[in-house]
Amino acid sequence: MENIIKLNKDGSLSVPSSPIIPYIPGDGTGPDIWNATRIVLDKAVETAYRNEKKIIFKKILAGEEAYKETGEWLPEETLEQIKKYKVAIKGPLTTPVGHGMRSLNVAIRQELDLFACIRPAKYITGVPSPCNEPEKINMVIFRENSEDLYLGIEWEAGTEDAKEAVTFVNSKILKNLDDKTTGIGIKPISEKNTKRLIRKSIQFAVDNNRKSVTIMHKGNIMKFTEGAFLKWGYEVGENEFKDMIITEQELWDQFDGKVPYGKVVLKDRIADNMFQQVLLRPSEYDVITAPNLNGDYISDLLAAMVGGLGLAPGANIGESCAVFEATHGTAPKYAGLDKVNPGSVILSGAMMLEHLGWHEASDVIHAALQKAILNKQVTYDLARQIPGSIELKCSEFARKICSFMD
Ligand code: NAP
Repeated sequence: MENIIKLNKDGSLSVPSSPIIPYIPGDGTGPDIWNATRIVLDKAVETAYRNEKKIIFKKILAGEEAYKETGEWLPEETLEQIKKYKVAIKGPLTTPVGHGMRSLNVAIRQELDLFACIRPAKYITGVPSPCNEPEKINMVIFRENSEDLYLGIEWEAGTEDAKEAVTFVNSKILKNLDDKTTGIGIKPISEKNTKRLIRKSIQFAVDNNRKSVTIMHKGNIMKFTEGAFLKWGYEVGENEFKDMIITEQELWDQFDGKVPYGKVVLKDRIADNMFQQVLLRPSEYDVITAPNLNGDYISDLLAAMVGGLGLAPGANIGESCAVFEATHGTAPKYAGLDKVNPGSVILSGAMMLEHLGWHEASDVIHAALQKAILNKQVTYDLARQIPGSIELKCSEFARKICSFMD
């Protein structure tokens, strides 16, 4: 029991010096990336704490490997292990498009109620970026993880269920949808799930001295789902963070556009506008909080702005468990080639270390990754954009990062 992370009553963690942390290597490029990540995490913990701390990694199964060994894509035992050990890290898992099973990644998030998907996008010096002033990019996305279109409530065109749903819609909303050729989906967004996400994002901004929280929504079109997300978001700000929150109007009227210390501006942007805002005026955005689908889209944009999916970490956090994973998928065309950038899972691992309170080890990773990039010794994705760079394999890049920890 002494190796098990415990959850305290106030939601904080009691972390032993050698915690057991389950990992899922993942499909496609997952195993290459995970092996590289593990080397870096072990070395960072050793560098920061010598022999005082060490992670005991424990393999758990999901995806193709699980299916081969157990006949199940996501064994119940895997979910039980994550619940037991509280913190886990995973590589990407394959999801077929347009047919077949639902996403295992979504299933893990929903089964464990990991309601907040947190994705930082911070520029690392030396990384090629399509933006003019990438050093101004330092945002954190809070993506709602448990509902919206990701609940997968949809019916295929031509089926009896789709006809029934279309008939209902036609009768209620007087639209003339064709019940034979129309596929139909449902987008649930609830007050409870919205409020807990927005609460977490504002609390994060307050705790980390962030300047603003922007609610990204499409409430002008989807009034009772995304519009409600916006309304409930402001309610959380006004009712629960009254002394810390200021409006954009107050920012300009009372503070001349400068956010006072200890205050957070709560504002909102319609989703389509949000995309051009972060590209053209990145310094005006800090924490972004969004429903599931918007959050998914903006994550990849911000990842591209700071160097692509090879450097895009993430965490899925609930009340009692947390699973750390990259923003990217399995990149199947590179599977087994020891080629892709392990940076996203390495940085997700650094987020995991911070979640454990092991900030020193996380700092070691950030510093060593920065040095490897400035040294221009990088994987293919960065090498193809950095003139004069040396292309390294996935595993070589991990070892290069480790070499900068000595
Ligand atoms: P993807 O796997 O993210 O790959 C898209 C492209 O992004 C790659 O072709 C590559 O670009 C670049 N990329 C991704 N990972 C990279 C890395 N580590 N280093 C450098 N570049 C990287 O997206 P996808 O092809 O749309 O999805 C493939 C599968 O992954 C699908 O089954 C999908 O459902 C699944 N998926 C899983 C997760 C998850 O596990 N959380 C998330 C997203 C998608 P270039 O071609 O330009 O080199």
